[in-house]
Amino acid sequence: MTDQNPVFIPGPTNMPDRLRRAIQVQTSDHRAPDFVEIFAPVLEDTKKVFGTTDGKVITFPASGTGGWEAAITNTLSPGDKVLIARYGVFSHRWIDMCQRHGLEVQVIECEWGTGAPADKFGEVLSADAGRDIKAVLVTHNETATGVLSDVGAVRKAMDGADHPALLLVDCVSSLGSMPFDMDGWGVDIAVSGSQKGFMLPTGMAILGVSPKALAAIETAQLPRTFFDFRDMMAANANGGFPYTPPLQLIHGLSESLKMLFEEGLDNVYARHFRLAEGVRKAVEAWGLKLVAKSPDLYSDSVSAIYVPEGFDSNALAQHAFDAYAVSFGIGLGELNGKAFRIGHLGSLTDVMVLSGLATVEMAMKDLDYPITLGSGVAAAQEYFRNSR
Ligand SMILES: *Cc1c(COP(=O)(O)O)cnc(C)c1O
Repeated sequence: MTDQNPVFIPGPTNMPDRLRRAIQVQTSDHRAPDFVEIFAPVLEDTKKVFGTTDGKVITFPASGTGGWEAAITNTLSPGDKVLIARYGVFSHRWIDMCQRHGLEVQVIECEWGTGAPADKFGEVLSADAGRDIKAVLVTHNETATGVLSDVGAVRKAMDGADHPALLLVDCVSSLGSMPFDMDGWGVDIAVSGSQKGFMLPTGMAILGVSPKALAAIETAQLPRTFFDFRDMMAANANGGFPYTPPLQLIHGLSESLKMLFEEGLDNVYARHFRLAEGVRKAVEAWGLKLVAKSPDLYSDSVSAIYVPEGFDSNALAQHAFDAYAVSFGIGLGELNGKAFRIGHLGSLTDVMVLSGLATVEMAMKDLDYPITLGSGVAAAQEYFRNSR
């Protein structure tokens, strides 16, 4: 029975029954015409979630990390300079990947709990008289800290410096949960994956690619074969795939898009905001603090929460799993042992979130945290009742 409990990790997320059924399809020939009938509309409809009409959607059988690699190898050359800020484990991993690909990475170190520093980006870009910086990389939602960055502000800073660099954005844990405006923000590549807002198993990297990024492919010299956009686009244009497609996931994505559009994207975002607010009310009632430094940075898909001094957040997550069979995210990187995370994205309702908050309370009480059972749950209940 314990497998009926929702997970509260920030991805992979809970799969609604409708999507579990949608991926239950028998093998079929991906060279047959019915593959095109399912795949072509998926590519078209996913654009709406990215907020692009100018761009293209390109997918690979990979996790989000593969999407990062596709983004940089298709647009950059060895030795190219890129600008990126480090404010959590995910931005750190993208930096590491760029370095391993032989890019020259200018890193702006930011305190964890803050987000992309648009003003500092602006200063660096203005000072880059030779226009050596070829790309600015931003992690939209830093899943390690629960911080949402203002991509529009980064675009303004780039435009303010009149800088031609590409803007590459990781939206793996925000797309389909919080508004994303690829065209409005002038994002050149937006990288996402199947296992978070789309509520599917891991296995599809999903990218939105602007015309400017498509043009950059022609001169980009980083080696790529599996992730070459051109091979993928050429095959897709003929209704196919350059290698074996993840057929079941494509069926799943087709149904996931139907679910998102039936609920309405604005309602999906409003639901995520409401669920996140409920969690934040509970955190406040517990007397605990979020890692995110200020409300403008709060993520609606994940909250990272400091445990009180003298407590171990790993022990809390472990105990919640051992005693109650509910998974929460542990603290990553420098937050390990200091913070735990509640993922509240994807297929979740008010009632499911209340069960997660109740579980945290039981686990904290068991471990002698100074909290009152029901305090956070009550705060969230009040909020949910009054925000319907
Ligand atoms: C989940 C996630 C990724 C991708 O991770 P994979 O495990 O490779 O799918 C990348 N960036 C962020 C911000 C994420 O949350």
